[in-house]
Amino acid sequence: MILQDFKIGWQNKFEQRLNALERLFPDITLQSVERYKGMLRVKFTSLDNDIQDVLDSVTYKIERESAQTCEGCGKQGRRTEEHLP
Ligand SMILES: [Zn+2]
Repeated sequence: MILQDFKIGWQNKFEQRLNALERLFPDITLQSVERYKGMLRVKFTSLDNDIQDVLDSVTYKIERESAQTCEGCGKQGRRTEEHLP
């Protein structure tokens, strides 16, 4: 699992999409996964420039979406730094 260090809201929303990228492009490398200013930032790298463009645009979209998705429960909302139960 790529998002093992994150909460269930982000896992449910983004894990499958990240797995799909790895299935689609078996030669890519997961370089980093981090929480940055309340957003999920994922960086994949590829030796192929066209694939790199695809990876960057998909992960950019996930980053923007994560800014509006509660990491704790997956609900849409404003950017949240932490989940308040
Ligand atoms: Zn929540």
